[in-house]
Formats: sequence, structure tokens, C-alpha cells
Amino acid sequence: MPLPAPGRATTWIAERAEASHYVLSEHVIRSLMAGRIAVPQIETALRSGRIIEEHRHGGRDPAYLLCAVHDGKPVHAVAAPRTDGWLAVIHAYVPAPPFWRTALHRSPGGPAMSDSITSCYFCGGAIKQVTVGNFDYRLEGRLYVIKKVPAGLCEQCGEKYVDAEVGRRLNALIAEQAFTGSEAVGVIDYAVAP
Ligand SMILES: [Zn+2]
Repeated sequence: MPLPAPGRATTWIAERAEASHYVLSEHVIRSLMAGRIAVPQIETALRSGRIIEEHRHGGRDPAYLLCAVHDGKPVHAVAAPRTDGWLAVIHAYVPAPPFWRTALHRSPGGPAMSDSITSCYFCGGAIKQVTVGNFDYRLEGRLYVIKKVPAGLCEQCGEKYVDAEVGRRLNALIAEQAFTGSEAVGVIDYAVAP
């Protein structure tokens, strides 16, 4: 099944949404789990959204930034048609300042930050340096959490970025299994949940 013909992307995406012929990226799942976005908002964006930007990264097929209104609130979704006929929803969020001046217009410039990454690869949101990033990882089926990591945090979608030095230290801490405590975690088993 081919990619949408020029000018047909909006319809192509809406048809895939209508047929539930789409997949959500892990990035979207993380936003769902953090309560920043919900599936009905995403489906509204896919079904009735207007394409406000076309993104092309390094020779990949285009992804489209869709904007729609759901329950009176704007929602953005970045969706990429695939050559296998499926739609991949890469990212979804509620547009807000400082990066979005309005639902349709990015803020000019954006906050300047000379010593680190300034905008998010996934959503284009502004990055703020924080020291509370929690990173989850799994090793041989067990979940581990690394807390209070210095990171750049996307103020729009919550994606985190660490610099090279922090990355090397994280790598060493994981390799050494340098645990400082443990916590119980809530679990939802999708297969048996009511
Ligand atoms: Zn982001």
C-alpha cells in the first residue's frame, strides 16, 4: 500500500484512524502514562486534525504535525504514514507556551540556552535543565529506577536528554549495580485487568 499522494495525507491519516489501522510509539505510551495526553485526544487529532507542519528527518518518509480541538482544548499529534499502509503515531501533546504561542503558531525564537540542547527532537518543545529526571530500565526482567539525574527536560512532552558525562556515569552505575535503595511498584497486567 503506497504512502499518501501529495495533498492526500489528511484523508489518508483520517481513514487509518477510522479503521484503527494505527500504532502508538513508546514515546506516546510514556505520555499516556504521565497523564499528559489521552487516546481520545489523539484520535480526534488523527480523524479531524489539520496538517500544520510537514517534518522530514534525514531522508525518512515525511511525518505530519496535526492540530485539532478536543473538548475545547487544542491537541497536536505527529503521525507518519508507513509504506506498509499503517500509520505510526510518533508523538502527541497539548501545545502550550513557551514553545507554542498559539495552537497553530510556534513562539518566535524560543528560550536560548547555549550550553546544551535547546529543542526536543520529538516535538520541538523547549528544553529546560532539571535535576530530577527519573530513568527506568529493565535488566533480566527486573525494573530499576535511577533518580535525580541531571537532565534536559522537554517542557512540552517530558522527553529527557542527558549529556555525555552523565551518560557515562549512568552507564558505570548500571554496570556496577550501584543500588542505593528499593521501592515497591504498582503493576497493571493488561491481560488480566478488568
Ligand atoms: Zn518534546
